[in-house]
Amino acid sequence: MINCILIGPQGSGKGTQAEMIVQKYGLTHIETGLMIRKRAQYHDKKAELMNHLTNKMGILLPDGIILDMIFNELAEKPSEKGYLFDGFPRTVKQYESLKELLNQKNQMITTALYLNISDKEAIKRISSRRLCPKCGKGYSILSDPSRIVCDCGGILIKRIDDEPDIVSKRLELFHKTTQPILELMKKDGILSEFNGQDQIYIISDNISKILDKYL
Ligand code: AMP
Repeated sequence: MINCILIGPQGSGKGTQAEMIVQKYGLTHIETGLMIRKRAQYHDKKAELMNHLTNKMGILLPDGIILDMIFNELAEKPSEKGYLFDGFPRTVKQYESLKELLNQKNQMITTALYLNISDKEAIKRISSRRLCPKCGKGYSILSDPSRIVCDCGGILIKRIDDEPDIVSKRLELFHKTTQPILELMKKDGILSEFNGQDQIYIISDNISKILDKYL
C-alpha cells in the first residue's frame, strides 16, 4: 500500500502527474480542490461559503471543513492500494491530522512528492489553464492551443480563481501556509523534491523511481 501526498504551488503540474500516478499505481485519487468545486455547486449555505472563500477571496477553507471532507471520503472509498492526496494537506494542522487519521487505520504516509516551480512560471501556466466544468479535467492551452472541448464533451472554461488578482493571493498563501509543511515532511523523512519545470516525462520517470520502491 502506498499513501502518497502530491504537493506544489498552483500550476506546478500536480494534475498531470496525478493522472500518471493514479493510472500506473492504482491509487485512489483524493483531490480536495475538485471535491470543493463539486460541493460548491449545491444551493445551500455551505456552498455559498465555499464559493465566497475560494472564488472571491482566494483563501483556504477552514481546516475543520476540509478534515470532515477527508474523513468522509476515506470512509466512503476504502482503498487496498492506497491514496494519492492532491491539494491536501495545505496547512500544518491538516498534515498532522492526516497522520493521525491514517495512524488510526494502522496506516501511514508513505511518501510526499514536491513539485517546485517559480512563481513566474506558475503565473504563466495558470493564465493558460482551462477546466472542464462537467468532469473537472484540466487542460493547458500552452500545450494544446486549439482545445476548447473536453474529451467528455464539456466546454472548457477559465476557473474564476485563476484570474490574476486571485492567483497572486493563492501563491502567497502557498508560500506562507503550505510551504512550512515541507520542513515537517523533511523531518519525517518522507519528502522528495522535483523540478516542476523539467519535461513532463522526466518528472514522471523520477516520480516512478520513488514509488517503485514501495511496490
Ligand atoms: P485547487 O484546485 O487545489 O487549487 O483548490 C481550489 C481552492 O479550493 C483553493 O484555492 C482553496 O480555496 C480550496 N482548497 C482546496 N484544497 C484545500 C485544502 N486542503 N485546504 C483548504 N482549502 C482548500
